[in-house]
Amino acid sequence: MSLLIKDATIVTQDAARRIVRGSILIDGGAIMQVGEVRGGADAVIEAHGKIAMPGLVNMHTHVGMTVLRGYGEGLPLQRWLDEKIWPAEARQTAEDAAAGARLAFCEMIRGGTTTFAEMCIHPVDGVFKAAADAGMRGRIGRGLMDFNHPEWIPKIMKEVEASLQLGGGGLLPFVGAHAPYTCSEELLMKAKELARRNDLPFQMHVAETRKEVFDVLKARGKYPFEYLDSIGLMDRSSIFAHGNWLTKREMGIAGRAGITVAACPISGLKLAVGGISQLAELDALGANVTLGTDGAASNNSLDMFQTMKMAALLQSHHYWKADALPAQKALDFSTINGAKALGFNTGSIEPGKGADIIILERGPNLRPEHDLIANLVYSAGPQNVSDAVIGGKIVMQGRRILTIDEAAAMKEAEDAAKSIAGS
Ligand SMILES: [Zn+2]
Repeated sequence: MSLLIKDATIVTQDAARRIVRGSILIDGGAIMQVGEVRGGADAVIEAHGKIAMPGLVNMHTHVGMTVLRGYGEGLPLQRWLDEKIWPAEARQTAEDAAAGARLAFCEMIRGGTTTFAEMCIHPVDGVFKAAADAGMRGRIGRGLMDFNHPEWIPKIMKEVEASLQLGGGGLLPFVGAHAPYTCSEELLMKAKELARRNDLPFQMHVAETRKEVFDVLKARGKYPFEYLDSIGLMDRSSIFAHGNWLTKREMGIAGRAGITVAACPISGLKLAVGGISQLAELDALGANVTLGTDGAASNNSLDMFQTMKMAALLQSHHYWKADALPAQKALDFSTINGAKALGFNTGSIEPGKGADIIILERGPNLRPEHDLIANLVYSAGPQNVSDAVIGGKIVMQGRRILTIDEAAAMKEAEDAAKSIAGS
């Protein structure tokens, strides 16, 4: 099916970061023409006076956790995990997680997110199915952990190998490990090796808190990135979430290895981690910087517009420098850099790219328009997103989600939340 997005202001995110007035012709899931378009299409989205931009990429989340939104408030990370989240997740069934996923996809689509990287606690089948039904693009994987019990590894690896057969098209697996402090060295190396063998990205939480950094230093004799480098985990297909507490030397290693950092600024602030991921430096050193929300239990939303804003503001605040992270960089992190890390031919609006496009209405919060990119990063929000197209398919039109029964998704998630939290 062909689709024409007609007469928009197009934020292309191409190599020259051009902003053009015109239309976008999509056919077979791919962008065919941008700007002055010749020929018609089977369907048309009228976008006169609106903004078309690449869909946002949420590089680190836990979709099943939307049912824990607002649960365990006011606790620092370790107590939040030990006392609230891990017991609740142990009560959560795979069906509860899938219900959380459906709610998450409604929130993502409304918020302009078309692609996500999901680290699951539960088996991934339900999330793959919910994501396929929603029409999302993404990578889904387990966050493996053995709590330093290497004897569990054969069973863990057998399960994860089977799950790598799931997905297809715009939904693909990755191999994930939870964190250096919840995994034995053997598990970390086996998981990375599995990712390499299958040519998949590898994702893990790293350097989220200062305590974790010093626990790793004590147990392994090295700072987290130095340790991961010493066991062969730092390369272009590694995606490390957080990175709030990194030394200059570690940032140098990250840059040289070309790893992806998936910073989650709002989650870090919410869990009072103290440090921030120094994105301007990581970017300058050559790391592929991207952004994520983390789960809705520690954010408490999946809003990538808020995330871009907070990422940029935190850099200005941290460096005492108003242009430490220009808005254009924050937008790059959430579009092209994310697509690159996940291996999708998306992230910009150019002929030949996959058609993941969102359309924004210029509401009061986006006027006047002295600087469109600044408006998108600092002023825009889900309230502006009117339409979303993923892989050439319309998933939201005129603010109506076409792929998910939103009322049913909300009800199911409420029911799941009650059974997990016992409230
Ligand atoms: Zn996480």
